[in-house]
Amino acid sequence: MDKKERYMERAEHTILHTYNRFPVVIDRGEGVYLYDTEGRAYLDFGAGIAVSALGYGDVEYEKALAGQIGKVLHTSNLYYNVPAIEAGEKLLKASGMERVFFTNSGAEAVEGALKAARKYGRKKYGEERCEIIAMEHSFHGRTIGALSVTGNEKYQEPFRPLMGGVKFAKFNDLDSVQSLMNGRTCAVIAETVQGEGGVYPAKKEFLEGLRRLCSERDILLILDEIQCGMGRTGSMFAWQGYQVEPDIMTTAKALGCGVPVGAFVLGRKAASFSLEAGDHGTTYGGNPLACAAVSAVFDRYETLHLLEHVRRVGAYLEERLNELVEKNSCLKERRGIGLMQGVEVQGLPAGEIISRALDSGLLLIAAGNNCIRFVPPLVIERGHIDKMVKILQNCLQEL
Ligand SMILES: *Cc1c(COP(=O)(O)O)cnc(C)c1O
Repeated sequence: MDKKERYMERAEHTILHTYNRFPVVIDRGEGVYLYDTEGRAYLDFGAGIAVSALGYGDVEYEKALAGQIGKVLHTSNLYYNVPAIEAGEKLLKASGMERVFFTNSGAEAVEGALKAARKYGRKKYGEERCEIIAMEHSFHGRTIGALSVTGNEKYQEPFRPLMGGVKFAKFNDLDSVQSLMNGRTCAVIAETVQGEGGVYPAKKEFLEGLRRLCSERDILLILDEIQCGMGRTGSMFAWQGYQVEPDIMTTAKALGCGVPVGAFVLGRKAASFSLEAGDHGTTYGGNPLACAAVSAVFDRYETLHLLEHVRRVGAYLEERLNELVEKNSCLKERRGIGLMQGVEVQGLPAGEIISRALDSGLLLIAAGNNCIRFVPPLVIERGHIDKMVKILQNCLQEL
């Protein structure tokens, strides 16, 4: 047994097997490359599932973290702390929204958003106003509340009964949403770009229609930006590219670029008329270390002009993936915006391509039914895209 196999065996004797992991033990990262315990390099087009937007080893980001580690890691929410104030201000400035609640994960951000929406409905219209409309093929997380609005039978089935009052509409089908709305509906939740479900961007008319229907009926629109937000589509938040503003937004993943942190952010309506003192809480959420990370992330985005960069290299990635799809009959179509792209595979399992790519030093992740997802660090350059395409083309030829 080599070193890697020994680690893998220890892991399987220790960590609950809820993932079928790839046979790689990651040791360190540098730039847009990860290295395993054997010293092998991997070009990273997964970014730890759309998290490590700054890549690995960004010196300014690491300095900010180290500085905070030297001061204080944790305070609880019984007291104020400066990093949370600064991170919150930056998040509100970037979103134009009103109030933020920091969480430790995406799922918790979704939980908070659902609670805020229910509280708004109940306070304004009474306890009947508690229903949520969610989307088919959506993903919002694995806790019971978030799972209840996740339109995936496989994920839901073993854990029923889930939270009540949830109905599923067809994504990008406004009529299907409208037909589920009634006086009991307090919120609609959707990803601006569906990630896990197979990289499906919302159609502009759909999102605009949702906004109109929700506004007409005083239903809150929750947009889950956990994966598509934080610059991935070339706007800080994907809804900004559509010019459709949510009442509540959830964010996480790249928000901390590796430090676990999420947030739900409330617009004017929800901020002034939902959660009050005592309604919600968290021990860790808004912790100084996590918030120092968030604050540094916003600073680095600005200094690096990362949004413009994403628009430029995102267009290039699109172009190169379109070429790949044209050349290879096993690739059916490309979907996505900016550096959040998916390529639908036909005639063979996407997983086979992804495993082959891994063997060739390229990290890719799957999505949806049979889709390869491309969510690299946002600092990726054209040369890395060329290299990825070359490796992927070789893998396809071999298969
Ligand atoms: C990843 C993800 C979540 C869940 O985030 P966790 O941090 O894994 O709890 C929720 N919504 C979307 C859109 C996601 O991509």
